Amino acid sequence: MTDFTGKNILVLGGSRGIGAAIVRRLAEQGGKVAFTYAGSKEAAEALATETGAEAIRTDSADRDALIATVASRGALDVLVVNAGTAVLGDPLVLEADVIDAMIDVNVRAPYHAAVEAARKMNDNGRIIVIGSVNGDVMPFPGGAAYALTKSAVQGMVRGLARDFGARGITVNSIQPGPVDTDMNPANGPLAETMHSFMAIKRHIHADEIAELTAYVAGPHGAMMTGAMHTIDGGFGA
Ligand code: NDP
Repeated sequence: MTDFTGKNILVLGGSRGIGAAIVRRLAEQGGKVAFTYAGSKEAAEALATETGAEAIRTDSADRDALIATVASRGALDVLVVNAGTAVLGDPLVLEADVIDAMIDVNVRAPYHAAVEAARKMNDNGRIIVIGSVNGDVMPFPGGAAYALTKSAVQGMVRGLARDFGARGITVNSIQPGPVDTDMNPANGPLAETMHSFMAIKRHIHADEIAELTAYVAGPHGAMMTGAMHTIDGGFGA
């Protein structure tokens, strides 16, 4: 188990779901963790009390506020960009503003946060964006806009890995398949459809994503960069 003692860590979107599991894991392993949230104040405060992590209210859709929060953390060792939303449905019906709001959080925010973090990041730092296997495959209708945001993350990760590699900074995406969270509950109406695409037919636990995140964030991840690390039960196989 990697010891993150003394490491300055920021998780964007850490109040619930996958982000909360990552906050727990990195804090348990000794990291000095701060995390952002947008709406879930109670959950954020409870997680801060439980883990000793610092909760900061910052909406990733507010570009200037996001950049200011990242800058305020000083020289980070690890940035995890987890905050994301999923808008699914008939593209002929979905409103343009709703799609653009998702693009703000899923695409613009990871880019601006990663670049801001890199300005002061310590050498051998880690930038990790939670993408999705839907960046690779979209096996059902109604997911075009969500898939485009997660494919955009792939291009960003490849490019920024080249930009920051000389400093030993790695830039990676972790690409989950279906994970049991509020966004995609294991007992939700889409569960059976999701499982039909998987080789191992169950939702992934958020802890399993946190474990992989900790690995990529740790010293063993030094030569993993510009890469997509898929953890999807064979959803995209
Ligand atoms: P949840 O909806 O369960 O949790 C989302 C988290 O992100 C919350 O902590 C939420 O905070 C935060 N967040 C959302 N929007 C913003 C914002 N504008 N500013 C700041 N924080 C924000 O989602 P998951 O945990 O399931 O998903 C996390 C990531 O994993 C997303 O990027 C998602 O696309 C990706 N993913 C999820 C999969 C799944 O099946 N669950 C599969 C593949 C990828 P708050 O409540 O305070 O707003």
